[in-house]
Amino acid sequence: MKLFLTPFALAVLGLHAAAAPLKVLLVDGQNNHAWQQTTPELKAILEENGFATVEVATSPAKGADIGAFKPDFAAYQVVVSNYNGALWPEATREAFEKYVGGGGGFVSVHAANNSFPEWKAYNEMIGVGGWGGRNEKSGPLLRLREGKWTADTTAGSAGHHGQQHEFLMVTRAPEHPIMAGLPAKWMHAKDELYDHLRGPAENVTVLASAFSDPATGGSGEDEPLLFALSHGQGRVFHTALGHGLEAIKDVGFAVTLQRGTEWAATGKVTQKVPTNFPTETAVSPRP
Ligand code: ZN
Repeated sequence: MKLFLTPFALAVLGLHAAAAPLKVLLVDGQNNHAWQQTTPELKAILEENGFATVEVATSPAKGADIGAFKPDFAAYQVVVSNYNGALWPEATREAFEKYVGGGGGFVSVHAANNSFPEWKAYNEMIGVGGWGGRNEKSGPLLRLREGKWTADTTAGSAGHHGQQHEFLMVTRAPEHPIMAGLPAKWMHAKDELYDHLRGPAENVTVLASAFSDPATGGSGEDEPLLFALSHGQGRVFHTALGHGLEAIKDVGFAVTLQRGTEWAATGKVTQKVPTNFPTETAVSPRP
């Protein structure tokens, strides 16, 4: 006997319709971070429970000719960047702009927001970035003033962090699909807390922030760290978290990456928040 179950019936039974895994392309190959260690962990997070299939496009090494780096972005639903290196060749930049502008998903992880200070469309996609000579000419800072994220055009450099530590993440857009069901506050594993990111900062929703404490060398401001953006018809999830393995092997990092990647790819989030999500007082390392 064949049993047909509607999506509603499946939901009642607590089952998921057998949705095809998301097709993800992860780009790496150059980064001032340990991308050889972090890429397999990012891949494992995204492939957990058959949620996605991840193929990796590794660029030529730093200093080698980047000219032949031409991933087939259009063959994937979402591109995840673990790349911070040489400017991609013009044809690759054009293909990427066309891909995201035409509705493709993009996810920027940690130092991917250091990349490409000179590439206008890329900076529009990520909203804000740091280092690479960025300054007030790159755009404003996003500062929380009277409950609103406000463009601050004060002159100065972009990109800084204090010493690594565990810190409290604060949800700033609880109604957004990526954040729906997540706690208002949760502890994030030991990581770099980026401050003073700057950029065009348009079409951006700040999803979560953390207070950058001067006691750990921080800015004394609530720093935006998770972002959702639109770029043309495309969606972008930007996480400034994820310096190294300790930061990445963390349930809060993993869940926000999974949900942000699904949203960037499809505009929806179907994943439930796991019961081992970190709390306001305790981090939760990945099993
Ligand atoms: Zn870092």
